[in-house]
Parts: sequence; C-alpha cells; structure tokens
Amino acid sequence: MRSEAKVALVTGANKGIGYEIAAGLGALGYRVGVGARSAESRDAAVAKLVAAGVDAFGVPLDVTSDESVTAAASSLERLDVLVNNAGITGGMPQQPTLVDLDTIRAAVETNVLGVVRVTNAFLPLLRASAAPRIVNMSSTVGSLTRQSEGEQGPISAAYAPSKSFLNAVTLQYAKELRDTNILVNAGCPGFCATDLNGFRGYRTPAQGAAIAIHLATLPDNGPTGGFFDDEGVVPW
Ligand code: NAP
Repeated sequence: MRSEAKVALVTGANKGIGYEIAAGLGALGYRVGVGARSAESRDAAVAKLVAAGVDAFGVPLDVTSDESVTAAASSLERLDVLVNNAGITGGMPQQPTLVDLDTIRAAVETNVLGVVRVTNAFLPLLRASAAPRIVNMSSTVGSLTRQSEGEQGPISAAYAPSKSFLNAVTLQYAKELRDTNILVNAGCPGFCATDLNGFRGYRTPAQGAAIAIHLATLPDNGPTGGFFDDEGVVPW
C-alpha cells in the first residue's frame, strides 16, 4: 500500500545525480521527496518522475536557508532515507593563492552547513523510522589520502576541502548515532557528466546515483561512518 511505502528525501533532486537517485529509489518502491529550491525545475522533475511511475512529490528546499529547511521538515510526516545530495563547486578560480574567501564560504555553506542544517531538521522524523539511512554525497576529491597521493581533480581550495569537511562531519554523526539504528555514510558518485562540471564527466548521472541508492538501502547490519564508491571503501 502506498501509505506504507518508505519515504526518501533527496536534496537537489531536480537534476543531475540527485534526480537519478530519486528515480532509482522510486523504482525500488520508495515514496520520494524531490528537494529543490526552484519551483519550476522541481515541478518538472516531479512530473517526469511521476510519468515514469514514481510516487514523487515536491519539497521546496534551499539547504542554505534555516526557514526553508524548517518548513520542509514540518511538511513531512515520515522519513526513512535522507540523501544529502545538493552541492556546488562555489565558483572559480580555486587556487589557494588566488581564491576569493566568498568562494570558500559558499562551498562550505552549501556542501557542509547545508548538510548539517538539513540532517538536524529531519532527524526527529528519521529517529521514528524502523531503518533510517543518511547518505552524504561527497567526492573522492575530498579524500585527503587520495589528494596526498597525487593528481585527484583540479587544484581546489573550496570544493575539495568542503568535501573533506563533509567527510569529517559524516564521521562525527556516525559516532554520535552509533547506538541508534541510523546508518550514516558518505558516497562518491565518480566523475559524472552534469552541470557541476560543464558535463565533462565520463560517467552518467545514473551511474553516479548507484552508490547513493546502495547506501540508502543498506541492511540493518550495514556499515556506518564509512566512505564508499562503486568499487568499495574510499580512504579518508
Ligand atoms: P548538479 O547537476 O549541478 O546538481 C546539483 C544540485 O544541487 C542541483 O539540483 C542544485 O539545484 C542543487 N543545489 C545547489 N545548491 C542548493 C541549495 N542551496 N539548496 C538546494 N539545492 C541546491 O551536480 P551533480 O553533479 O548532480 O552533483 C550532485 C552531488 O554529487 C553534489 O554534492 C556534488 O558535489 C557531488 N559530486 C558530483 C560529481 C560529478 O562528477 N558530477 C563528482 C563527485 C561528487 P539548482 O538546480 O537549483 O542549482
């Protein structure tokens, strides 16, 4: 029955990888909230998902706004899966010697503080779920190990460190929630062709969505406090 379907919310689900996460969870029978800040693109994504047979609904959501996030949380009655997917690069250039501090602030505001803001607002609903899952969409450019091993994406004093920060925050959530049934993990989609990178990625958004769908549907004995891509564990 529809009313008993598990409910998932995907932030930034109007396009790119987030849209494909919503489509994938919808295909698995989840009722899916399409979190998006633009009414026009949110409505278009919901219409496309519904046409594909997904039980989708729109959730007005700007992850940088306390008011928007609070209103979004109070509009839902149930939540089983939260995918913190919304993200930005913050703009260019990002060489540490040239970067504008506002570029760093913007990346951290959306990619880190946005995740904390959204997660904390929806946590009461997640705590009421029988099998809550939180997935934070990170990136291997946030892996300090990979960065220190050599080339891993462009020089970036805003986007890449914001994902390292997100990874660190993910670990702290997992630590605090370890004695609960909430599994919290970070996922990396790989280099996917989306607006984020001018469609230069070599993977499809659907391929990028797969790790998030996997982490969103982990069994109760699944991992928490980990960082994963399609190949397995990504080193911090
Ligand atoms: P995208 O196509 O640019 O989509 C980003 C999404 O985030 C859009 O829906 C965007 O909404 C939304 N968003 C941005 N700021 C927001 C805000 N303040 N409130 C609500 N939504 C907001 O990028 P993508 O490639 O699908 O990226 C999805 C996630 O994967 C990001 O976290 C990104 O860092 C991560 N990732 C991507 C790649 C890749 O190769 N593409 C690699 C590693 C990690 P608007 O349409 O309104 O801007």
